Amino acid sequence: MNPSQFEPQPKFRAGVLGATGIVGQRLVQLLATHPWFELSEVAASERSSGKKYSESVKWHLNEPIPSAAADLVVKGLEPTLDCDFVFSALDSSVAGPAEEDFARAGYPVVSNCKNHRMEPDVPLLIPEVNASHLDSVLLQQKNRGYGSGFIVTNPNCSTAGLVLVLKPLADAFGLEKLFVVTMQAASGAGYPGVPSLDILGNVVPFISGEEEKMETEPQKLLGKWDGSRFVEAGLGISAHCNRVPVENGHLESVSMSLKKVATLAEVREVLRDFTVSDELAALPTALKNPVLVLDEENRPQPRRDVNAGNGMAAAVGRIRECPLLDVKLTLLSHNLLRGAAGGALLNAELLAARGLFPRTRVSTEAAAQPQSVAP
Ligand code: NAP
Repeated sequence: MNPSQFEPQPKFRAGVLGATGIVGQRLVQLLATHPWFELSEVAASERSSGKKYSESVKWHLNEPIPSAAADLVVKGLEPTLDCDFVFSALDSSVAGPAEEDFARAGYPVVSNCKNHRMEPDVPLLIPEVNASHLDSVLLQQKNRGYGSGFIVTNPNCSTAGLVLVLKPLADAFGLEKLFVVTMQAASGAGYPGVPSLDILGNVVPFISGEEEKMETEPQKLLGKWDGSRFVEAGLGISAHCNRVPVENGHLESVSMSLKKVATLAEVREVLRDFTVSDELAALPTALKNPVLVLDEENRPQPRRDVNAGNGMAAAVGRIRECPLLDVKLTLLSHNLLRGAAGGALLNAELLAARGLFPRTRVSTEAAAQPQSVAP
């Protein structure tokens, strides 16, 4: 199939687990105008379930709640939703078992959550970086006896923008070591997130678990799937993560050493020329050139650049020599779009285009039956 001609009819029906949260709301908003997917189910905690979506959600976006979502009744986490696949934007305290329940019941699960990211048969996916890792889905289904279901994850929000920028540099020059300092937006902590008295006029130099994610996830993303396991990239990475009083957008100061000598002009050119394959360019949420290089000496800035490429680009600036390593630069990406809802949507589009979404409606009865596990 030529993916540029892919136009699913009828649209695939999507459920959103955690639809009332900060990331879930973005998914609900993006699905309202999506050409391939339509929102058919929303689910959240017992606090919200049983009520209309418009009554249970504390809506944070400027545009009103999409009409297709407003009257949907919020369900719980039983894997009996009327949809072809689910996005998961659940709090990590419940995402692990809930995502497994849905996958076991036959639903493809496109997750934003940390719980399954580093498992040996679960793809951690940025389509522009490691689309070939999707081949691991078949092994996951076999290992876990999932039938048509499976779990695909996207990376932590600060890792997503970083690795998008690293990918063309790794391909062109090879990467050896990386030192990164983040300035992460308050919305990255969900709602209500960091108390206002802790973050207003302040910087908090600690985000629980974040440095560990930034030091491990790029190894999997930039590594290889060898047909039976993920082989890590073997980079030396040191990350410092800070929460700053910015609404949206994670800014990152990065120093790196390269395996091959490169001039600053070559680094700039490689980033500017980073172009996705035709398969990816045909996906509705994809950008042909996902890295935007800015020449102004004081960019990127969260307020000015966070929505570059509809929030799906990584904006890069201040490319210069590093006296300790080889090159340093500043990058910015939207934590809720590229780093969460938009990244998950792009993952789902690739899965749909590759024929990985079943068209069968998962019935309540089928979902209730435990499936046999392959030996
Ligand atoms: P959030 O605003 O706190 O939303 C959490 C969602 O999980 C809500 O819909 C909530 O439903 C639901 N939930 C909580 N406890 C539940 C339970 N016991 N049973 C069922 N549902 C429950 O968090 P968020 O920022 O949207 O993040 C969602 C996920 O995405 C997290 O795993 C997070 O780590 C990940 N993530 C977030 C970002 C970001 O920038 N914010 C980026 C990448 C990944 P109720 O409203 O009913 O409580």
